[in-house]
Amino acid sequence: MRLPCAAARTASAAVLASLVMVAACAASADEELRVGGAVVQLDFDRRAFGGGEGTILEWVRRSADIVSRYYGRFPTTRATIRLVPQSGAGVHGGKTFANPDPYIRVQLGREVTAEQLLEDWVLVHEMTHLALPDTGDAHAWLSEGLATYVEGIARVQAGNRSEADMWAEELRSMPRGLPEPGDRGLDHTHTWGRTYWGGAVFCLLADVDIRRRTQLRFGLQHALRAILRESGGLATDWPIERVLRTGDAAVGTQSLEDLYTQMKDTPVTPDLMALWRELGVVPEGGSVRLVDDAPLAPVRRAIMRGS
Ligand SMILES: [Zn+2]
Repeated sequence: MRLPCAAARTASAAVLASLVMVAACAASADEELRVGGAVVQLDFDRRAFGGGEGTILEWVRRSADIVSRYYGRFPTTRATIRLVPQSGAGVHGGKTFANPDPYIRVQLGREVTAEQLLEDWVLVHEMTHLALPDTGDAHAWLSEGLATYVEGIARVQAGNRSEADMWAEELRSMPRGLPEPGDRGLDHTHTWGRTYWGGAVFCLLADVDIRRRTQLRFGLQHALRAILRESGGLATDWPIERVLRTGDAAVGTQSLEDLYTQMKDTPVTPDLMALWRELGVVPEGGSVRLVDDAPLAPVRRAIMRGS
C-alpha cells in the first residue's frame, strides 16, 4: 500500500524541533554524492542500519540516478537527504521540502534489507516532488499524482522495475483514483485515493493524449522537463494554470489544459480498462500480459522508451 506523504515548502516548528534533535546526535555523518549534475548530501547515522553504509549509499545514488534520467538531470543542483532510523524493516515514508534549501527526510527501518532498498519507490517519489512548482494545497493531486505516476515510468526506464510490474500496479491501484458518489472534481475532493491515484489517472490520460496528438514525438516527460527547466521546481510558487500552460507549450498541445478544464470541478470516470486494452496491457492472473499489436501499443512503447 502506498503511504501518504506530502511535499511542503517550509518545515513546521515541530519538524524543525525534531531536526535539531537529529542534528545533535554525534554519531550522524555526512556523505556527498554527485549524481545527475547535483551534489546530494546524505545525513545519517552510519551505525543505525543493519544492511550497512554501502547499501544505503547505493540506494540513494540509484534513486537519484533514476529521477535524473527521467528529467534529464537531477531536479535541483543541491539537496540534503536525512535518514531517520525507526524500528523494523523497510522504507517507512518520506517528506520533501524546498525552503530554505531542497531537503528530503526519509524514515527508514533499522533492519531494512538490500532487497527492500532495491525495490523502494519512496525515495524516487520524494525526489520527483522537487521537480514541480508549488501550486498550493488545492492542487496536491497534481504533485502527488505526478510523483506516483512518474515513479513507475522512471524506474522502468532505468531498468529498476519491469514494465509488466508497473502496469500491474496501475491496474490494481489506479481504480482507487476514480470518483466516488459526492465527488466534486480533483480540485475539490481531497481524499487519499483521489489525491494520489486520481492525480495519476490525470497523468496517464495526459501522457497518452500528448503522444497521440504529436504522433508519438512528445509525451508528458517532455512537458515535465520543460516545467522544471522554466520554473526551477518546488522552490517556486506558480499557479497551476501556468504549470500546465508551460507543459503544453513545450509539446505543442493543449492536452494538460484541456484535461484540467474537464476534471478540476467535475467527476470524470474514464474507462481505464478499455484504455489499458488499447495500450496492449491485458490482465492475466495477478499480473498483466503486454500485447504488441494493440491499437495504442506504439503509444505505450513510446511512453516507456521516453525521450
Ligand atoms: Zn508525495
